Amino acid sequence: MSLRRRIAVVAAVALAGPAIVAGLKTGQRLRPAPALRITFLDVGQGDATVIRTPSGRTLLVDAGRADLERSRGRTVVLPFLRRQGIHALDAVVLTHWDQDHAGGADAVLSGIRSFGLILSPMSRRHEPPTATERRTLLIAKRTRATVWRMARGQTLRSGDGVTIAVLNPPRNALYRNSRDNNGSLVLRVSFGRRSFLLTGDAEEEAEMNMLRAGLALRSDVLKVGHHGSASGTSARWLDVVRPTHAVISVGRRNPFGHPSPDVLDRMRRRQIRIWRTDQQGTITMTTDGSGLRVHTHGR
Ligand SMILES: [Zn+2]
Repeated sequence: MSLRRRIAVVAAVALAGPAIVAGLKTGQRLRPAPALRITFLDVGQGDATVIRTPSGRTLLVDAGRADLERSRGRTVVLPFLRRQGIHALDAVVLTHWDQDHAGGADAVLSGIRSFGLILSPMSRRHEPPTATERRTLLIAKRTRATVWRMARGQTLRSGDGVTIAVLNPPRNALYRNSRDNNGSLVLRVSFGRRSFLLTGDAEEEAEMNMLRAGLALRSDVLKVGHHGSASGTSARWLDVVRPTHAVISVGRRNPFGHPSPDVLDRMRRRQIRIWRTDQQGTITMTTDGSGLRVHTHGR
């Protein structure tokens, strides 16, 4: 390789990383910029979010609910992963054990190889464990998924620039109200200059705890806590997180009155763009670390 060519390649590496070098060597078309993709699946009343990092590492955060007739893990989550060509998950993360988040987990764990199952440390305090918890842990054992309990202060790094920080619960949290919801794992996913805050069903007590702890909360996208219920998404929380976009994962005509008109109003007054799975269906957000694109799949 001539010195001139070598300098050109070195400059390309410094500017844009190995994808450009591969393009130079093979003469093929340059690959698109690496991107982080987060999809909020339309699972009706409940949550299921797929995180896909630039190098293809994949996490599922919650798996939708299961009831007598069907499991959203089987009818929504697995078909979506298949359509995306995803044949294994690095981990299934369950924010907490409520049916509308963890109900579909057993179907997912039995339907696709998952290397890990990440839980909130507060989920250990169920006395006795719920049927969902017992079933899920049994299948995790059978499928040899490693179970981790993660708490505030711990971080997952994908090795390709995506960082997932656990902000809640604190290791020894003792929440008074709605222990299960407030014990939700809250994750801040960041890539380049963009970040997403996934809050499970965290309510105001957990929000206040995170605010008092002085954590880095500012995020471009907020997955609104507890389906937009009036028990969370306080004004102080919104003023510190300062999202541009909010996602509400909620079922059409759900019996809980989610999302609360007060929460919607609080967000509108702050000019936050609201996306809802009951109105727009599945919502995908893609970022190269700088721009942010939103794509809705319709209902
Ligand atoms: Zn919920």
